[in-house]
Amino acid sequence: MHEFSICQALITQVEQIAISHGALKVQSVKLRIGSLSGVELPLLEHAYPFASAGTLVEGSTLEIERAPLKVNCEACGLESEVKANLLTCRMCGSCLIRVVSGEELTLMSVELITT
Ligand SMILES: [Zn+2]
Repeated sequence: MHEFSICQALITQVEQIAISHGALKVQSVKLRIGSLSGVELPLLEHAYPFASAGTLVEGSTLEIERAPLKVNCEACGLESEVKANLLTCRMCGSCLIRVVSGEELTLMSVELITT
């Protein structure tokens, strides 16, 4: 299960942040996920409580923000926001495009409980 291993890696990362700050618990975790990252959000959300059980991350809230999908057109140079099922330039319709954002899975912020 792809999402479970992503979730475990994420929790390990968050736990290390919590430990390095001397936190007792993690309050919330905020992620930014692009629609081309290949991550199924419901599966990730489902895996979260299981993957975090027994860690400092257990019981925290997972917030997910969708990153917009942006492409840069090789033909006309325009950067535009597109839909995942329509990977063409908005301006000239060219499919010679490069994805500039939308494939990322970024840890945006971690809220810690220190007292
Ligand atoms: Zn174009």
